[in-house]
Amino acid sequence: VSDEADRQRARGGLRQTLRGLDMLESNLQSCSDPQLAETLRKIQRRKARQSVPFLNWLRLGGESARFSSLASDASTDLPAQFLEKRPEHGAGGAMVLDRLEVTPALVRLKIQRPAGFDFKPGQSAKIGLAGLKRRYSIASAPHEDFLEFFIELVPGGDMSERLRSVSRGDRLTLDSLSGSFLLNEKFSTHLMVATVTGVAPFISMLRHAFTGPESRRDRRFILLHGASYQNEFGYRNELEGLAVAHAERFIYMPTVSRPEEPANTGWPGERGRVGTLVQPTIDTRQLEPASTCIYACGHSGMVDDVAARLGGQNFTVRREVYD
Ligand SMILES: Cc1cc2nc3c(=O)[nH]c(=O)nc-3n(C[C@H](O)[C@H](O)[C@H](O)COP(=O)(O)OP(=O)(O)OC[C@H]3O[C@@H](n4cnc5c(N)ncnc54)[C@H](O)[C@@H]3O)c2cc1C
Repeated sequence: VSDEADRQRARGGLRQTLRGLDMLESNLQSCSDPQLAETLRKIQRRKARQSVPFLNWLRLGGESARFSSLASDASTDLPAQFLEKRPEHGAGGAMVLDRLEVTPALVRLKIQRPAGFDFKPGQSAKIGLAGLKRRYSIASAPHEDFLEFFIELVPGGDMSERLRSVSRGDRLTLDSLSGSFLLNEKFSTHLMVATVTGVAPFISMLRHAFTGPESRRDRRFILLHGASYQNEFGYRNELEGLAVAHAERFIYMPTVSRPEEPANTGWPGERGRVGTLVQPTIDTRQLEPASTCIYACGHSGMVDDVAARLGGQNFTVRREVYD
């Protein structure tokens, strides 16, 4: 891990590059000369490409993805979404910027963040598509200029089936933020428990805490993340990176509930249902109700199980149930 002064210099340089990219974008929009436009695009791609290793070094997952999608676009035209201004909230819908298939049943969707669409880490938004609306937790952080969601495509589910075919350039509507599943600021230690996509609000909270402008050093986080299979941890690289970069303040413990299955061959981490890790974590890390808030998010079975296991221990527990 590098010296803080190096990191600050790198952050300053990246902020400058971002400003440069934004200026290039606005120049491109007003440019009528095709040759000049092509030159501007080339510069934009080169700048983005140069910044990716830097961002990876700083472990700024979200920004890195933004640069990567610019840098890896080898075609002569940049994707239209980068040339389009942020849409007004509610006007025509927000465009899908990127779709990452974690598994055939799990997608990370990145969409435009409409102007004025403000939220707090942990909140969820209603996404609308073809006349149907469903609520999804926002995985991106408030300082990021896009919105990100981590979605399970439930077989036969009305929205899931619609989302299965959504791709870059499609539009979704966004409304009705909801949000009591927020970080409880009274506590210094935060024990987060998630099943698969239930990690989404925690990604937002952790990006906010570690890469946001208001990052605070007096908070400690432990994330217990459960899934059936090892390929379902959609943010494993980012979370393991954070755990290395902030070893004193963040612990990431993914666990697979079906360790014997061939798909989990070679799994190096914890085994068993995520709920079973809660009490051992409390005991070994000596977590106290006075300083620790516990959060459980995802399938109701896990959320109820965690609440039951904590019964009578006086911990403050916040819950978000998806099904
Ligand atoms: C506050 C909140 C935040 C949410 N955030 C997320 C999120 O970040 N990511 C995400 O993937 N989902 C999230 N959900 C769940 C999401 O809103 C939908 O319920 C889910 O996508 C299924 O919708 P559907 O229309 O495809 O299925 P439906 O047609 O509504 O339901 C089909 C069947 O699937 C069952 N079902 C519903 N949800 C699930 C599920 N998650 N797993 C298994 N079975 C289910 C239903 O009980 C029903 O039997 C959240 C829900 C809430 C209330």
